[in-house]
Amino acid sequence: MKDCIFCKIAAGEIPSDKVFEDEYVYAFRDLNPQAPEHILIIPKQHISRVEDVTDEDRGLMGRLVVAAKHIAAEAGLKKGYRLVFNNGPDAGQEVEHIHLHLMGGRRFSWPAG
Ligand code: AMP
Repeated sequence: MKDCIFCKIAAGEIPSDKVFEDEYVYAFRDLNPQAPEHILIIPKQHISRVEDVTDEDRGLMGRLVVAAKHIAAEAGLKKGYRLVFNNGPDAGQEVEHIHLHLMGGRRFSWPAG
């Protein structure tokens, strides 16, 4: 989608620190990491937020989780990691292209802040 920063990153038009890519999914390091490992996993297809996910996107959304599993294994996150979708303003979603945060390498508290 025109003017979407994450679409541009996935297309290689804006530089990023890529950690994974396949036909459907792109993953790159967060510019402002909140943990020793902080990676954003996105669909190449533009989807703004969870409300826009359709039945046809079920496989695609599953691909984000499978990518997370592989990236976490590659990063050696044997003790666990947190996966987060910030969805909408109350959750602090800043970029309107759905993205799965993968954070690891430290302990996380619960409930989330
Ligand atoms: P959210 O608040 O869930 O929308 O998260 C957006 C995330 O994208 C934040 O953690 C930002 O640090 C990150 N971010 C924004 N622009 C970039 C960029 N160009 N490269 C990498 N991470 C970015």
